[in-house]
Amino acid sequence: MADLKRLLDTVRNELQSVDHPGKVADYIPELAKIDPKKFAISITNLKGETVSTGDDVKPFSIQSISKVFGLALALGKVGDALWKRVGREPSGSAFNSIVQLEHEQGIPRNPFINSGAIVVADVLLAGHRPREAIAEILRFVRIAANDDTIMIDPAVARSEQATGFRNFALANYMRAFGNLNHPSELTLGVYFHQCAIEMTARQLSEAGVFLANGGRDPRSGLTIVSRERARRINALMLTCGHYDGSGDFAYRVGLPGKSGVGGGILAIVPGEASIAVWSPALNAQGNSLLGTRALELIVRETGWSAF
Ligand code: GLU
Repeated sequence: MADLKRLLDTVRNELQSVDHPGKVADYIPELAKIDPKKFAISITNLKGETVSTGDDVKPFSIQSISKVFGLALALGKVGDALWKRVGREPSGSAFNSIVQLEHEQGIPRNPFINSGAIVVADVLLAGHRPREAIAEILRFVRIAANDDTIMIDPAVARSEQATGFRNFALANYMRAFGNLNHPSELTLGVYFHQCAIEMTARQLSEAGVFLANGGRDPRSGLTIVSRERARRINALMLTCGHYDGSGDFAYRVGLPGKSGVGGGILAIVPGEASIAVWSPALNAQGNSLLGTRALELIVRETGWSAF
């Protein structure tokens, strides 16, 4: 772990010393306030040990990384029936794109684009009030991370509720096709709150390590998902985790990964470790620019690869 710590410090120094393009997400007003210079990397291995560098104890909005946890929970509830309502193919379109939905009759391409994650939130809402569904997602994340201090930032959730017109459009559109079972505002209430979960890089790598360990949390010994389900979630992260930048991410990093517009990325090295990076400035596809670069440097040095 000492070597890994040295590597993380070197990567941080290298990346922070140069100016990079990239822009903090500002379509969610609350996220526009984040300091673009923040930077953290955290790695948790299969013994449950974590090393990190930078602002690793500063919580950030995990945004779409929450879609991984939402998916794991929804698959636990309805299993393969989920795939009647959501596809498993990369979209090649932006995270909030509406065009494919018309061609594909309201069935989102995959669970990691916004429309797909909204359907997943609708599944989690079944039989519950929004507050209960939100609490269930938060509980799942806390169990995966072994950390009861993880919270939702209500200001971020409100900010998105007030300005998430595209997400309302997606939800209403899917409702028109019969692929949303609850009123859009209720399903989106769940979706916005799950996206507003805040975590530190350290908590995020700890929460994701079950996916590197065949579905089992190495610290608590708890089975979070079955081995087969972990493999499938990783496959979806590899093919769909970075929107229309998924191919490029696979080419550069070669690991399952899920990004969020808060600037975080969770990457999984099956059989080795989970990696969380945070750098808020984004590339044109809405994925962390330096976060991706950091992962490229880490895999180059460690030789970690899914292949
Ligand atoms: N809450 C964000 C949205 O729905 C998530 C997008 C992302 O993180 O990529 O727009």
